[in-house]
Amino acid sequence: MSRVLNRRRFLQSSLAAAASVGVSTIRASAFSTEEHIEAIVIGSGFGGAVASLRLGQAGIETIVLERGRRWQITDDGDTFSTYQKPDGRSTWLSPTTVVFDQVPIDIYTGVLDVKIGDGMIAYRGAGVGGGSLVYNGVTYQPTQELFYQVFPRSINYSELDQVYYPRVRSILKPSPIPDDILQTDYYLSSRIFLEQAAKAGLKARKLDMAVDWDIVRQEIAGQKVASAIIGQVYYGINSGAKNSLDRNYLGLAEATGKVEIRSLHVVTSIEESDKGRYRIICNQINEQGAVLAQKSFVCRYLFLAAGSIGTTELLLRAKANGTLPRLNDQVGKFWGTNGDGVGAVITNGPTNPTQGGPAATVIEHFDNPIAPVVTEQLPFPIVPEGVIASLGQAIAKPEGYFTYNASTQSADLFWPSNSTNNQKNAQALQYTYQLLNQANSTTLAEPLNFGATAHPLGGATIGAVCNTYGQVYGYRNLFVVDGALIPGSTACTNPSLTIAALAERCMDRFLNRST
Ligand SMILES: Cc1cc2nc3c(=O)[nH]c(=O)nc-3n(C[C@H](O)[C@H](O)[C@H](O)COP(=O)(O)OP(=O)(O)OC[C@H]3O[C@@H](n4cnc5c(N)ncnc54)[C@H](O)[C@@H]3O)c2cc1C
Repeated sequence: MSRVLNRRRFLQSSLAAAASVGVSTIRASAFSTEEHIEAIVIGSGFGGAVASLRLGQAGIETIVLERGRRWQITDDGDTFSTYQKPDGRSTWLSPTTVVFDQVPIDIYTGVLDVKIGDGMIAYRGAGVGGGSLVYNGVTYQPTQELFYQVFPRSINYSELDQVYYPRVRSILKPSPIPDDILQTDYYLSSRIFLEQAAKAGLKARKLDMAVDWDIVRQEIAGQKVASAIIGQVYYGINSGAKNSLDRNYLGLAEATGKVEIRSLHVVTSIEESDKGRYRIICNQINEQGAVLAQKSFVCRYLFLAAGSIGTTELLLRAKANGTLPRLNDQVGKFWGTNGDGVGAVITNGPTNPTQGGPAATVIEHFDNPIAPVVTEQLPFPIVPEGVIASLGQAIAKPEGYFTYNASTQSADLFWPSNSTNNQKNAQALQYTYQLLNQANSTTLAEPLNFGATAHPLGGATIGAVCNTYGQVYGYRNLFVVDGALIPGSTACTNPSLTIAALAERCMDRFLNRST
């Protein structure tokens, strides 16, 4: 796990790659023609996909601007690259892979991107479908009690529970791993994890996964390319077993005939234009990241869904450049890691550690005496035989923040890794592992790793930059509908379900308001 990233080498490479999609300095007046459209959505991850579908269904002409490319699953089973043989498709505009080992690759608009911050490395997806292209598919609803440790009481949990979480699930169609699949050799680690938890008296269960288990069965039968069953997740699943957003929400949005997704369009600036409209400037790029054209759009309604990092960066840039002059000083604040921490346990026998993805099981230790934590068994391709890796999550306080760096025209990320709350969460997770290890005569392979997160959250949060329906203070028709809204944690769960449910709630409010 300590091989996650060589920071210095990565920084050099990412700077080189970033130059090719550099921020446009062209002013709006330089564009002879602009496209006018009712609504624009920036980004096509969970927030953007929900917004697109609901706008399309309401008959509102919408363009979705997405920096990454489309990833169509084909019968060849070769849409995405693999851990064994990574190539440019794995990584966003970088000369090396950025997770696990650093392998040289061609510079390409691949699916996994990384943000190197001070005190934290944050991963995110890139492409039509956003984080759903690279995610495990864990679709996890927080408990009411923990939800209110993060969110204000003005968000009604019962309404989320009865209306919005089910609405999202009805489209993502998540379900737990069926027993016949769990019993195969591929999922040995998941079974051992459940057994170890039971021995330690810890509550463990299967998780709802946005996975088509019939396709996993076809992988097992040799009718589809082996992909999920051999632990391929973070560069995409070639068999099509993952229910990524391009295959549900976004496909449904396009089917309305009102929504057009423009891939390989990197938004560089947003500004208020006349009559309360918004101008969006972007670079159209090729698959190698070179700028082909600069484009300008004007819309009446603007939905920011570029993810915690992308949305915050666009807002910070707009604030620094004075293009959204009424933004307040809270932009960039209240960011967190969802309390992510990776642990690896040495067991006493075989585990098939590189097989059986995506994650399927969780230990819920909400009554941990130090702090509530969960830990999920995950496939990690670098984990050796005999070791089981899992991802812990706790309630991170939103103590991180972004500042705008005028020289690079990007957002710099800061995370106080040694804060009292972060130390407490680390101790809590350590305690859960102690119980597991004592009961099973196992040991931790190395200290828990809190240096990276796959769950960046915050930067334009509810109550600080936006109201609880995502409307940006001071701007009636500007909305944040993605993970940037959430102050640092989704209460001991993976965030995608809560991001999507809150986006559904925001869109309901928007579509039901009078003008
Ligand atoms: C490896 C990995 C595994 C994960 N596993 C899980 C899991 O199992 N369960 C779970 O709940 N969560 C998981 N997550 C987290 C989950 O993917 C994110 O929380 C979620 O995708 C965030 O949704 P979002 O709408 O905020 O933004 P995103 O899904 O990140 O979407 C933002 C989109 O905006 C685009 N974009 C960014 N900047 C620009 C720009 N300037 N112009 C145009 N487009 C732009 C991006 O390319 C991206 O497509 C995982 C994340 C990673 C990295």
